[in-house]
Amino acid sequence: MSEKMWGEEPFWGLGYEWDPDWVLTERQKELRALLIELCEQEMRANAKRSDDELLFPRRNLELLGEHGFLGLTVPEEYGGLGQNHVGFSMVCETIARYGCASTAMCYVMHIGAVMAIMYRPTDELIDKYIRPLRSGKIGTLSYSDPETGSHFWYPISSGAERSNGGYKVRKKASWTTSAGFADFYVVQTTSPDFSGYDDLSVWIVDGEDAQAQPSLWDALGLRGNQSGPLEVPDVEIPSEQLIGPIGDGAASNDEIVDPFFLIGSSSVWNGIALGTIDIAKRHTTRKRHVDVGMRVADYPTIQDYVGECLMDTNASRLFVMSIAQAMDKETDDNTKALAVGDVARANFLHWAWQIKFEAAKNVANVVDKMLHACGGSGYKRDMELERYLRDGKAGWVMGPTNEVLRQFVGKAVLLGFEALDYWNQSYNRRAVENEIKKLDADGKRELAEQLVAQAAEEEAKALAASG
Ligand SMILES: Cc1cc2nc3c(=O)[nH]c(=O)nc-3n(C[C@H](O)[C@H](O)[C@H](O)COP(=O)(O)OP(=O)(O)OC[C@H]3O[C@@H](n4cnc5c(N)ncnc54)[C@H](O)[C@@H]3O)c2cc1C
Repeated sequence: MSEKMWGEEPFWGLGYEWDPDWVLTERQKELRALLIELCEQEMRANAKRSDDELLFPRRNLELLGEHGFLGLTVPEEYGGLGQNHVGFSMVCETIARYGCASTAMCYVMHIGAVMAIMYRPTDELIDKYIRPLRSGKIGTLSYSDPETGSHFWYPISSGAERSNGGYKVRKKASWTTSAGFADFYVVQTTSPDFSGYDDLSVWIVDGEDAQAQPSLWDALGLRGNQSGPLEVPDVEIPSEQLIGPIGDGAASNDEIVDPFFLIGSSSVWNGIALGTIDIAKRHTTRKRHVDVGMRVADYPTIQDYVGECLMDTNASRLFVMSIAQAMDKETDDNTKALAVGDVARANFLHWAWQIKFEAAKNVANVVDKMLHACGGSGYKRDMELERYLRDGKAGWVMGPTNEVLRQFVGKAVLLGFEALDYWNQSYNRRAVENEIKKLDADGKRELAEQLVAQAAEEEAKALAASG
C-alpha cells in the first residue's frame, strides 16, 4: 500500500491502512490522491480564510472545476468524469477531511443540482449548464421554505403559472447554500394549475434572476457556504428551464435530490470526523508532559478516545459506501437513463435517511471527543480543530434534521411508510376521535355545525370552479 503524502512529507494524520480502500476503483484512488494534493497546496489554507472572513470558497470551487470535479457524476461524453455514487461519496469526504468543509457542502449542493438536470437531460440544458462546468460554473439546490422550516419538501411560499409560452416562477427560500454566488439555482415550487402540495415542479433559475442577500449570512460553522435566504420574484422562465414534466418534483426529490444530498452530506460529516481524528493524532503524538516523560498519546484514556471514535466513524463510512454501492448497482454505475415512472435510487431512500442520521450523530460526538483528547490546545484556533468542531455541528440541524429522520424511520417501521404523510393529507381518525371524546354535547354540536358550514363552502367553490 502506498504511503499517504502531504506535499513532500508523509501525511501527519491517519494513513491509508485506516481507509476502506477496497470499495474504491484504481481511478477513484487516483482522484483522491489528486484531491489531497489540491487540499495541501491551496484548499486547506483557503478554508481558514473562508471561516475567518465569511468568504465564499470561490477559488476552491474553481480548482475543482479545473480538474473536472464539478462534473464528477456527469457522463464523459458531456465533459464529466463519469463517476458513480461511491466516487461521489469519496470526493465529498476527501474535500471535507483534508481541505474545506464549506467547499465540500457547496460541492454537495452543486452535484445535487447537476444531477437534477441529468435526471431529465435535454440538449439545451446540457449545452447551457453541463458542458461549461469545467469553467467553474456552480449550481445549487434551493428548497427550504421560510413557512415550513426543515420540511423542505413542502414549498408553501412558492408557485408557478403559465406565461408568454413559458412560465412565471416565484420562490422564497430561507436557506440556500451558495446563495448570491451560484450561477444557477435548481428550485422546487408547486406546479402551475396547483392541485396540492404534492404536485411539485422543478426549475432552473439563472443567477441574475435570483435575489440573495449574502450580507445576512453569519453562522456558527460552515461559514464559507453562504446559506442565506433567496428569492425568485415572479420571474419569467422559458419553458426549456422546466426540468422534466410538470409535476415531476416528488419523483425528482426521491430519485435524485434526496439520494445525492444524503450520500454527499453524510460523507462530509464523516470527512469532518476523520479530519479531527487526524488533527488529534498529530497533536497528541507531539505534545509531551516532561514531569511523567509521556506524550499525550501515551495515556490509555486518549487511546480509548481515538480508538472508539475511529471505529464509530469507519462504521458510518462503510454504511454510506454500502448505500452508495447499492445505488451504483441499481443504476449500472450511475449510467442508467430513467424514464418517467422508473425508480432506482429511490428504492433505497429509507436507507439514505439512516446514513445521514448516523453520520451527523457520529460527527457531533467525535468532534467533542477529539477536543477533549487535545485539551486546551484544541480549544485555541491555531490548531484548526475548533473549526472542524463548529462545521460538524451543522450535520444534526440540516434538513432532513436528525429529529425528523429518526421519526421517519421509527414511524415507518411501526406504522408503515404511508403513515409518513409528507404533505399532511391522511386523516388521523384515532387522534380526532380522541379529541372529540373530550367535548360535551354543546361542544360536539358546535363542531358539527362548523364542519357542515365548511363542507358547504368547499362544495360551492368546487361548483363555481367547474363551470
Ligand atoms: C449550513 C446549512 C446549509 C443549508 N443549506 C441549504 C440549501 O442549500 N438548500 C436548502 O434548501 N436548505 C438548506 N439548509 C436548510 C436546512 O435544510 C433546514 O431547512 C434548516 O436547517 C431548518 O432550520 P429551521 O430553523 O427552519 O428548523 P425548524 O424546522 O424550525 O426545526 C426546529 C426544530 O424542530 C424539529 N422538527 C422540525 N420538524 C419536526 C418534526 N416533524 N418532528 C420532530 N421534530 C421536528 C427540528 O428537528 C429542530 O429540532 C441549510 C441549513 C444549514 C444549517
